[in-house]
Amino acid sequence: TTTPLIAEIEEEKAFDAGEASLVVKELQNVFRSGRTKSYEWRMSQLKSIAKMLQEMEKDILDALHKDLEKPEIEAFISEISTSISSCKHALKDLQQWMAPEKVKTSITTYPSTAEIVSEPLGVVLVISTWNFPFLLSLDPVIGAISAGNAVVLKPSEIAPATSSLLAKLFEKYLDNSAVRVVEGAVPETTALLEQKWDKILYTGSARVGRIVMAAAAKHLTPVILELGGKCPAVVDSNVNLQVACRRIIAGKWALNNGQACIAIDYIITTKEFAPTLIDSLRRELEQSFGQNPIETRDVSRIVSKYHFARLLKLLDEDKVRDKIVVGGQSDEEKLRIAPTILLNVPYDTALLNEEIFGPLLPIVTVEKIEDSFDVINSTPERAKPLAAYLFTNNDQLKKDYVRNVSSGGMLVNDTVLHLTVEGLPFGGVGESGMGSYHGKFSFDGFSHKKSVLYRQFEPDASVRYPPYTPQKQTLL
Ligand code: NAD
Repeated sequence: TTTPLIAEIEEEKAFDAGEASLVVKELQNVFRSGRTKSYEWRMSQLKSIAKMLQEMEKDILDALHKDLEKPEIEAFISEISTSISSCKHALKDLQQWMAPEKVKTSITTYPSTAEIVSEPLGVVLVISTWNFPFLLSLDPVIGAISAGNAVVLKPSEIAPATSSLLAKLFEKYLDNSAVRVVEGAVPETTALLEQKWDKILYTGSARVGRIVMAAAAKHLTPVILELGGKCPAVVDSNVNLQVACRRIIAGKWALNNGQACIAIDYIITTKEFAPTLIDSLRRELEQSFGQNPIETRDVSRIVSKYHFARLLKLLDEDKVRDKIVVGGQSDEEKLRIAPTILLNVPYDTALLNEEIFGPLLPIVTVEKIEDSFDVINSTPERAKPLAAYLFTNNDQLKKDYVRNVSSGGMLVNDTVLHLTVEGLPFGGVGESGMGSYHGKFSFDGFSHKKSVLYRQFEPDASVRYPPYTPQKQTLL
């Protein structure tokens, strides 16, 4: 029962628009003081993050296990070591990123010099998601701090252990006058979204992406939207099949059990090659997860009952279960679904039109491998995914895929690894999002590129000043 005292305490705890406005005002004051702009402040915060990653590894792994039963090695590689790389990269290159970029000037401004100055935007908001709840919270914050902003992070309530750990760690390791965590779900995020931010980076679904963008539009706040989509893997027959299958497994099940924005959502191959591919995938799956994969602890579990039910509903649609060729088992109590492959499910099913975000992998077949471009591009649900994969040794096919398929990123003959390349931007296009981050792209995403032209008083060509005498006219 809620006693008046409990109600009072709960009310006190509620984070509403008033509270959100206070947080933003405090951070705006700190930003205006210039505290976050200096190279020293940025470096000190980045060094504290590096220290935090080193000292708190075990706690981070524990939280990820509580939230998703992530296997330790997977959690370390995909969340901790990637955060360490991102932080190290910023520490190493920050000075260079911050340096003004000299630009050539023209005869019109002679004599002059010009440069592009990267200036921090102000107070920024990062809204994160549950599937890589540590990395996808920390990595944008690293970018925001590198660029000299004050920042509020709102982690996902669906990964509560990681969310609460992030709140504690930020309090312990970072300058809380400028870097804060606000925990919470929809009401808290809504309260935050009512405020005027200088930039919002949101990671999550396109549905909520639209809510974020609409809220941001009211304040003319620019956004980076890191969304998802249906990432295809086109598999040609001309491949090293065993390596291709291992990499498909790495980009589907070994990656948070398919609960990843860049996980392979579906495979396209030829009618002729499909049986060979399925046999090989079956063999490699058994090699990776044993004969009873529902029992393996080498993949994460499904995050919640809601998502478990959502995935089973995809399988329970009319005519879908008949198409299962590998797997299909599930355990509601343990929130486990075995790696499941389906062949030729009808095109009008949710499985081929909604982002799956789990361990189900439909295979679509075409007559010629080039027909796969149409399968990807022909519907708004499948077009413009966050990642598009291709397995082939055919150079012409590689060129045609790059030219004909639009996606956030693309990777030929592997999965996922493109996002580890520091020089490549990570972001979507169309339904998979807008803007990008990672490395220098994070710094740029959280900076304003200010054009600055420096002139001298002499010499001073008078042509541009009235009166426009006949002599001046002759110069035209
Ligand atoms: P989600 O959109 O439901 O939730 C993400 C965040 O939005 C959470 O912090 C949540 O509290 C907040 N939120 C939820 N509903 C809200 C509302 N009505 N108003 C305001 N805020 C709200 O997304 P999800 O289910 O957590 O994530 C799955 C999606 O995220 C998939 O589409 C996936 O592809 C995408 N994703 C993209 C990337 C990327 O880097 N591009 C990474 C991971 C996930």
